[in-house]
Amino acid sequence: QSAVMTIDGPGGAGKGTIAREVARVLGWHLLDSGAIYRLLALASLREGIDPGDSARLAERAGLLDIDFVVEGDNAGAALLEGEVVAKAIRDEACGERASVLAADPAVREALKARQQAFRQPPGLVADGRDMGTVIFPDAPVKIFLTASAEERARRRHKQLMEQGVTANLDSLLQELRARDERDSRRETAPLKPAGDAITIDTTEQSIEAVIGTVMEQVNA
Ligand code: C5P
Repeated sequence: QSAVMTIDGPGGAGKGTIAREVARVLGWHLLDSGAIYRLLALASLREGIDPGDSARLAERAGLLDIDFVVEGDNAGAALLEGEVVAKAIRDEACGERASVLAADPAVREALKARQQAFRQPPGLVADGRDMGTVIFPDAPVKIFLTASAEERARRRHKQLMEQGVTANLDSLLQELRARDERDSRRETAPLKPAGDAITIDTTEQSIEAVIGTVMEQVNA
């Protein structure tokens, strides 16, 4: 088994940014597991699949074309059947649907091996909600990133604006709270730190400082 490190936490805690940078520094692969749930959400919205139809969703999850752009300006962008959907999957409707689908145990099971397959030499940095608890429980380094809901909403707002997506800060905060609630309360793989995870509160920390702390763990 090749090396793996996990970065979990609620939306907007900085997982994506930190995971990308740590993967770049280490020269490891990157798994944005949230993007997989978002891809399934987008496919289900486009194909009109009922979010309550567990059997059909699990089947669709098993067939889901999971691919990311490897090189160039769009590197890391999610692809759905060859189409760059990086922006479409960041939409709040997609995030909302992703969180609903993610509460379905059959969907999570159907996506488990697909996520584990990203573990390839020389190593993998995996970010999500259950990377350290369910998908890679044997990871020697597990990080749990948190930040206040207000700060996370501000960050997501900024990120969306940079991507040219219009968003309202107050409604983002409300949606984020609703999503936290659903992600933490679900029975399968609820959002919580693994017993052996190191929790970092990023509310008042710069990205550089957080990366420094994470790299110390990797090198420890
Ligand atoms: O991280 P992101 O906001 O892209 O994730 C979208 C949704 O996918 C989350 O709200 C969560 O419900 C779900 N998710 C999950 N497990 C993961 C990653 C994401 O349940 N490992």
